[in-house]
Amino acid sequence: VKPLTQHLADLAGLVPLRPAQRVGLEEAHGLVLAQDVYSRGPLPPFASSAMDGYAVRVSDVPARLTVVGDVPAGSVPTAVVGPGTAVRVMTGSLLPEGTEAVVPVEHTDGGMGHVVVTELAVGGAYLRPAGSDVAAGALVLSAGSVLTASRIAVLASVGEVTPLVHPRPRVLVISTGDELVDAGAEPGPAQLVDSNRPALIAAVTEAGAEAIDGGRCSDSPESLLAMLTATPADLVVTTGGVSMGAYDVVKATLLPLGTVTFERIAMQPGMPQAWGHLPGGTPLLGLPGNPVSALVSWELFGRAALGRPRPQLRAQLAEAVTGSPKDKTQLLRMTVVDGVAHPGGGTGSHLLVALGHANALVVVPEGQTELAADSWVTVIPLEGC
Ligand code: AMP
Ligand code: MG
Repeated sequence: VKPLTQHLADLAGLVPLRPAQRVGLEEAHGLVLAQDVYSRGPLPPFASSAMDGYAVRVSDVPARLTVVGDVPAGSVPTAVVGPGTAVRVMTGSLLPEGTEAVVPVEHTDGGMGHVVVTELAVGGAYLRPAGSDVAAGALVLSAGSVLTASRIAVLASVGEVTPLVHPRPRVLVISTGDELVDAGAEPGPAQLVDSNRPALIAAVTEAGAEAIDGGRCSDSPESLLAMLTATPADLVVTTGGVSMGAYDVVKATLLPLGTVTFERIAMQPGMPQAWGHLPGGTPLLGLPGNPVSALVSWELFGRAALGRPRPQLRAQLAEAVTGSPKDKTQLLRMTVVDGVAHPGGGTGSHLLVALGHANALVVVPEGQTELAADSWVTVIPLEGC
């Protein structure tokens, strides 16, 4: 039995990044940047007003000033701020020469020909100097960054509209089991709906990868080997058939190849795991079939293999935890609200609806059988990232 942390370390780098290529910004969301990106000029590119108001000299206010110009955002000022004068500016306006501070319109009577400024101004107030975000030639994003919405804004603002990125890894998802029917079909007696395949397709997509539905396989080794290799992929993920049962098809098919390792991991849920490579060299993860185990395994091991782990946060237990297995890391399904983790039903690996109500996994480390209420615990969020 292998410690959970060891298995996570073993899976690092299992799926190499795809060769870099350039894509448009509209396709870049969620991809891994393959280049360092530098600013071409300073950002913001020119000194601008942070408020709707008046550009003034500090020593002139408070006073009644002559308004010598008006600068809508996007236009170049023609007037200059001289002694006893002000220029009306908008948020984002290029500031006229001579500006020492901007007085917000709220500190004035809002006049047009003349303006009464009622407050003192401090030098540099309410203006955004050129380069105050970043200087020209500065590193704005490093290779390896995941392109979130805010980083796409950075790329756009420096003019990098076709960034070099690693394309999404293609993940082929195959479920196994003679007892399964596709979702929507009526299960016969002793049959079960295949919930793992749609769940994993969603979880793969949520991890920033491209999911390919590889279909459902019977417990027949011949058909499984054909399905595993039929579609080009960067990672193949199977569910079911990796444990000690008599008809464990993934094990029966892949153990003889010698390139896939079948292990027991000291964790609950998700103890039996398989990982390695298919004959053509494609990386493979064989996840257990129990619905909770399959999803938890993907969140930990699928994401580790892709190099896209969930963040780990901290929360406090609303209630005590008891009866956690001493020799395993337990991952409890809980609902975390405002930093407090609330219990989420039982620990059985088939309790799918309880998992549906949870939004996080709470980690009870190996060696720990109980945790008092209010204990701080590590939490792996299951949504929103
Ligand atoms: P296995 O790992 O193949 O022994 O399956 C363990 C348990 O998970 C059994 O109760 C299976 O019926 C169930 N199971 C396996 N695959 C799926 C699936 N794709 N969807 C839902 N339940 C499954
Ligand atoms: Mg099975």
